[in-house]
Amino acid sequence: MKTLTIDLGERGYPIHIGTGLLSQWDLFTPHIGGEQVMVVTNDVVGPLYLERLLATLGLPDEAALVLPDGERCKTLETVNRIFDALLERRYSRNATLVALGGGVIGDIVGFAAACYQRGIDFIQVPTTLLAQVDSSVGGKTGVNHPLGKNMIGAFHQPRAVIADIATLDTLPERELQAGIAEVIKYGLIRDAPFFAWLEAHIEALRQRDPDALAYAVERSCRNKAEVVAADEREGGLRAILNFGHTFGHAIEAGMGYGRYLHGEAVAIGMCQAADLSARLGLLSRRDVQRIESLLARAGLPTVPPAAMDAEAFLRHMAVDKKNRDGQIRLILLEEIGRATLPRPVPRESLEATLHEYGR
Ligand code: NAD
Ligand code: MG
Repeated sequence: MKTLTIDLGERGYPIHIGTGLLSQWDLFTPHIGGEQVMVVTNDVVGPLYLERLLATLGLPDEAALVLPDGERCKTLETVNRIFDALLERRYSRNATLVALGGGVIGDIVGFAAACYQRGIDFIQVPTTLLAQVDSSVGGKTGVNHPLGKNMIGAFHQPRAVIADIATLDTLPERELQAGIAEVIKYGLIRDAPFFAWLEAHIEALRQRDPDALAYAVERSCRNKAEVVAADEREGGLRAILNFGHTFGHAIEAGMGYGRYLHGEAVAIGMCQAADLSARLGLLSRRDVQRIESLLARAGLPTVPPAAMDAEAFLRHMAVDKKNRDGQIRLILLEEIGRATLPRPVPRESLEATLHEYGR
C-alpha cells in the first residue's frame, strides 16, 4: 500500500492506494469520530462491494443507504434522500458518511456531508479509475441543476481517501479508458516523466495489471494533491486541471450528455488543445503526434464527432467558466509536461483548429 498526504493544514488528509483496502478496518477507524456511520453507495456498486465494507466496519445493513445509479440522479432530490435517512436515524454532528462508488456518489455524498448540520466528516472510497485519480481528491462536491452541470456545490475535504485498486476489476472497459484520459492529462500538464512511463505501460494499464494501476493512481493523485495544495479554491493554478476540458465540455453538451463519457470527450479536447498549441508555435508537431498516439493506444477517441462543427463548438465554449469579458480562454501546452495558465487565444487560430483538426 502507498499513502500520500494532501497538505492542507488542518484540512489535510491521507490518500491510501492499494489492493484489498476495503477489508482493512485500521485504515478507516482513525477517521471515524463517533459511533454513527452511514455508508452511501448505488445499486451497481452496492451488490459488488457493500457487504464487504460493512463487515470491515462492523456495521449492520441498516447503516447503508443504496441510491439509484447514474449521473441523472446527481440532484438535490438525491441529496435530500440522504438528509432524510440521516434525520430519520437521528444522526448527529459527529456522524461520518462513507461514499462508496464512482465520482457521482463521491460528489453527492460529499455535498450532503458539507451541508448536514453545517458539515460532518466523510470518507471517500472511490471505485472507478476516474474517481480514484480525480474526483475523490480535492474537496469539490456538488450536484447538477436542470440548467447546468455541477452548478450547486461546496468545497468540503474528506477525512481520508481509500482507493482499493481491486475494485477496478469489475469496472466496464469504457469507464476504465475514460479514467485513463484523466491520468494522461496529469502527464501532459505537469509530469513529462509520467507521460513517458504511460507510453511504456499503457497496455499493462488496459489489462488492469494491479502494479501498473496502483502506480498510475498514486502518481496521478500526487499530481492532483500538489495542484490542490497550491490552490485549494481554484484561484489560479488549479485551472490547469481543466486542460482539454473546454473542448471536451462542448462535445459532451453538444452531443447530448451521456453519448460521450467525460474522459472520452476530454481525450478529444486534449488533442484539439494540443493542435491549437502547435498552431500558436508553443508545441512541436512531433509532440502533438505523441499525444494522439498515446490516447489512441488507450482506446480513446482523438477526433471530434462529425456532428460537432466549428459553430457548435464556439457556441458551447462561449459559456466556459474561465472566459473573461466575452473572450474564450484556454489552457495550452508549451511542451509535454508543461501547461500554460488560461489565456485568451486568437480567434483565427481557434477556428483553424475547429475547422481542420481531425477533418
Ligand atoms: P460514475 O460514478 O457514474 O461511475 C461510472 C459507472 O461505473 C456507474 O454506473 C457506476 O455505478 C459504475 N461503477 C462504479 N464503480 C464500479 C466498479 N468498481 N465496478 C463496476 N461498476 C462500477 O462516473 P465517474 O466517471 O466515476 O464520475 C463522474 C462524475 O464525477 C461526474 O458527475 C463528474 O462531474 C464528477 N467529477 C467530479 C470531480 C470533482 O473534483 N469533484 C472531478 C471529476 C469528475
Ligand atoms: Mg475531468
